[in-house]
Amino acid sequence: MENLFWSSSLLDVYQSLFEQGDEISFAMDTKGKVQLMNEAAVRILGYTSAEFNRIDYKQVIPTEHVAEVEAHFSHVLQGNKASFRMMFQHKDGYIVHLSVNAVPIYENGAVQGAFGIGRVRTNEQYTSELLNGQNRVLQMIAKSAPFDDVLHQIVAMVEHISPGHPCAIMMIDEKNNSLFHAAAPGLPDEYIKRIDGVPVAEKQGSCGTAAFLKAPVIAADIAHDRRWPLHRDVALKHQLNACWSTPVFNDDRQVIATFAMYARQPSVPTEADKRLIREATRLTSLAIQHYRAKEQIHQLAYHDHLTGLPNRRHFRQALEDTIARYPHDTHALFFLDLDRFKFINDSFGHKTGDDLLKMIVDRIQTRLGHSILFSREGGDEFTVWLERTSGQDAADMATSMLETFREPFSLEGNELFMTASIGISLYPHDGMQEQDLFRKADMAMYEAKKKNRNSFQFYTSMLDRQSLKKLKMESELRSALQRDELSLVYQPIQNLCTGDIYGAEALIRWNSRHFGSVSPGEFIPIAEETGLIIPIGEWVIRTACRQLKAWQEEGRSLTCMSVNLSISQFYQSNLAETIQTIIKETGIEPSQLTCEITESMTMDTDNAAAILQELQHIGVFISIDDFGTGYSSLSYLQKLPLDTLKIDQSFVRDIAVNESSEKIATTIILMAHHLGLHVVAEGVETEEQLSILKKYRCNAAQGYLLGRPAPPDEFFA
Ligand code: C2E
Ligand code: MG
Ligand code: MG
Repeated sequence: MENLFWSSSLLDVYQSLFEQGDEISFAMDTKGKVQLMNEAAVRILGYTSAEFNRIDYKQVIPTEHVAEVEAHFSHVLQGNKASFRMMFQHKDGYIVHLSVNAVPIYENGAVQGAFGIGRVRTNEQYTSELLNGQNRVLQMIAKSAPFDDVLHQIVAMVEHISPGHPCAIMMIDEKNNSLFHAAAPGLPDEYIKRIDGVPVAEKQGSCGTAAFLKAPVIAADIAHDRRWPLHRDVALKHQLNACWSTPVFNDDRQVIATFAMYARQPSVPTEADKRLIREATRLTSLAIQHYRAKEQIHQLAYHDHLTGLPNRRHFRQALEDTIARYPHDTHALFFLDLDRFKFINDSFGHKTGDDLLKMIVDRIQTRLGHSILFSREGGDEFTVWLERTSGQDAADMATSMLETFREPFSLEGNELFMTASIGISLYPHDGMQEQDLFRKADMAMYEAKKKNRNSFQFYTSMLDRQSLKKLKMESELRSALQRDELSLVYQPIQNLCTGDIYGAEALIRWNSRHFGSVSPGEFIPIAEETGLIIPIGEWVIRTACRQLKAWQEEGRSLTCMSVNLSISQFYQSNLAETIQTIIKETGIEPSQLTCEITESMTMDTDNAAAILQELQHIGVFISIDDFGTGYSSLSYLQKLPLDTLKIDQSFVRDIAVNESSEKIATTIILMAHHLGLHVVAEGVETEEQLSILKKYRCNAAQGYLLGRPAPPDEFFA
């Protein structure tokens, strides 16, 4: 086998190891590409070694399982041994379960790849895993572990033995009318929310139907299953393509729950899956009957697992009860959402995120007392129900809740400030129905988030009108490009050392036939949300590059064109390719194009760094726009391949009047220079600001003082 990665002596050693035995042997390089494969691998997995060289192994591992396998291999490539189980899709389509042992390959003291042996899991192994799992569950029941922990353990056992198949246990409510979600650690929140409470009836997905028919329901392909008319969209959205649900019976043959196994590809359960499902339903039945006797189930049905707060079901029931009891009073629904919580989860991990949630809940609960219903809606969303209240009292309560966020939370030794946004709707003023009240409180919450973090907002009919306007704007924006309503204006960028105008920033304008001129601040977010930003963004880059070329051909000495990228444009998969094509097509030099991004786009550092490197590779410059308004520090930016930093206009505005602004701006300039970055000040409006910037050797500036954004024919006027 030809190989460019390792020396021939090393290869020889492995080659001889390779060809022996019935076990799969393979070696991969540090990029994760399989370089060697033995005969057994060809036999067991169905691909020839030539094919192995060509395939991307991600294509032959079930999608949902890829991240896990990658994590194991990257652990090995960092110099560790690892034993794990993985699934591999045979060339004929079926799944082979493997136990893998992998070790790093060293050459000259450095890891050069990984060597691994894979064994097909035998029936005996499978059986012993199943027995171990059963024992764990039975022990938990015997030790009276909390009921929901037991259900989680059953699901975890199945998911462990058959990786890549998320499972769910749903229980029947007291009236035998509907199923509520009891344990499904591997399913996405949005999906759980949707199926929570499905009626026990026909055409209610696999679980609702299975409970109704009192028989297993195998939906081998949800996309085409007639029992899935209502929830098909969310299932497919989350790559749940098959769902096999089995009713769980009690000793009197009544259905008490369902156990469902999902698959990512349309498929039916294998014999092994069926055996696993049988075992899981048996354990579930045992657990439910055991705990039902102990009456712990009520807690599960009406409380949130993590925080112990009442859950959505409880909340909605209480809301309906209050309205039925006091139909003529005013009641308030609060919808509270934590700001930036996703960021915490992503940077500190879910466990820490969960701990933080509990701390926050504690504080709010203490503030509210126990007579007010405070419940967890899901994720980082909470609801509060104030009975028989007034607008003023609701406002006071919201203020008081937000005050609990004044003090920092201490998280793994860090002091962390959190904020929340609250939206409030009032019964009966804003709506008589639960759905209406929720929708409006939610809308108000978004409004609060937009305005100011850590604030609250009542629903007003303005919000309804605003969202109508937004919809209308969206539909107008869809055809704005074709109707030629978009244009670019250019703002000069001046070199502060020489006084030359060397560049321009392209800024988009929309002159709508309906709304007149709309500012980018208003329509760019809509373009973002709707995906329209991709064609619009491409149009901006192309038009700006063409303009630069046209000016150069006129003999103007402009050497830099800056364009603004928005976040989804930045993360689109072929950004670098698109830019490269435009550069070629318009004939400018790559180094004459600067892409402006904002700090918030680099929050996902690893991905951002990869994209920035691609851009750097094609030769364009990268600038951080509005610097100082985000969360990043300069030392963190140092890790990214950047060229320019633009100081946000808010600092420049106050630079001449406010000492601290001057300090911030000048520190940014000094440190940026230290890191070898070019610094541009934005929003320069007065001579005084300009002279301070010059004093601190800011490289360049933009602003009304030096030139307003202008259409191309007025740029040099
Ligand atoms: P930005 O990239 O920070 O652009 C600077 C904004 O400040 C521009 O507002 C500009 O007109 C304004 N400005 C320039 N000099 C002064 C000054 O001396 N004083 C004051 N008060 N303002 C000044 P504009 O054109 O309304 O754009 C707002 C934002 O919209 C831009 O901020 C940029 O983030 C975004 N944007 C504009 N064009 C595009 C585009 O083509 N694509 C994307 N994704 N975003 C764009
Ligand atoms: Mg900009
Ligand atoms: Mg800016």
